[in-house]
Amino acid sequence: MSSPVPHPVGVRTLGEFVFCPRAGLLAARREADEEPEYDEPRLDFMPQYSLAAVEEQLAVWLSRFGRWSAGGAVLIVAGVTSVVLGVKAVAAISAVALFVLGRFWVRELAVVMRLADVRRQALQASPKEPPADASSATPVTWWELLKAGFDSVRLQEPLRDEQTGLVGSPWRVLRKGSLRIPVIKLESAHFDSGRFWIYPQHEIRLAAYARLLEACERGESPYGVVLFGDRFEGVAVPVGKELREAVETTLPRFREALRKSATEAPPPEPPDPALCAGCPLGFPKAATEAERRSVVKKIHGVQGNDGKLYHSECGDGFAWRPPHRRARQKGLLPPGE
Ligand code: SF4
Repeated sequence: MSSPVPHPVGVRTLGEFVFCPRAGLLAARREADEEPEYDEPRLDFMPQYSLAAVEEQLAVWLSRFGRWSAGGAVLIVAGVTSVVLGVKAVAAISAVALFVLGRFWVRELAVVMRLADVRRQALQASPKEPPADASSATPVTWWELLKAGFDSVRLQEPLRDEQTGLVGSPWRVLRKGSLRIPVIKLESAHFDSGRFWIYPQHEIRLAAYARLLEACERGESPYGVVLFGDRFEGVAVPVGKELREAVETTLPRFREALRKSATEAPPPEPPDPALCAGCPLGFPKAATEAERRSVVKKIHGVQGNDGKLYHSECGDGFAWRPPHRRARQKGLLPPGE
């Protein structure tokens, strides 16, 4: 008789649980378990992660830049001609139009230069990949990995492993031969001048994705890659025995916490309140009118020193006041906390 398929657990949710058990339970209540992009539109275009896409964008923006330049040339000719002919009104209109157009022109130029710079980085990168047996984190760049022959794939469907119940889709998978390298992204604040901040909740995500890829694609995932925001610099993190064991031991702990949460008290508050001080789930937001009135989703609101009612996802979820630093500023915590 085959053993029952374990309850599915999202990889990001598992990472949240490692960060804080309450965060894991909140993540399990949400439907989506997707890897975030952390890409912000820069100068009106989204960063691209393939040379072909960069070149396509560059062609589009060069053509726009050409049109703005042609418009500027027409206005200059019109302005100069009207000055020579003494038609002051036309000269004034041309000058104003040129000023407005100049601002757009500068912006288009900045985009073209940025894309040209990314294209240069992609073309000049040397093939380089981290050693499969590395024992410590190795700096990498996206373009070096692609030059080394990796194909970057965005999965259309999440990976599922019936044996562990893990489900998830890394931001990208790098494939080369039998290698299947999961890639995740963190906010750009996790990287500064070559220094990086990768925590256990991120490492376990990489290890869980490695496990999923090995189970579903029958490949090898000796490391995972972390990129930061819209940078092309990243870090390869070895997925060794210890991390793999952490996945095995955390999964049953998480399922047990889920089971208990249905009938028993929630997991205790983190022993160190500093964890909540910057946690986005404890960030207090002013309640909207609809949130105040909702009978379906009750909020755990607390009145701030500005008279507004504040609540947070974690506060609502566990009917308490997370000691977020903003909660302190807004006077939402009991005196002495
Ligand atoms: S606010 Fe605190 S308790 Fe709530 S999820 Fe964040 S760290 Fe955990």
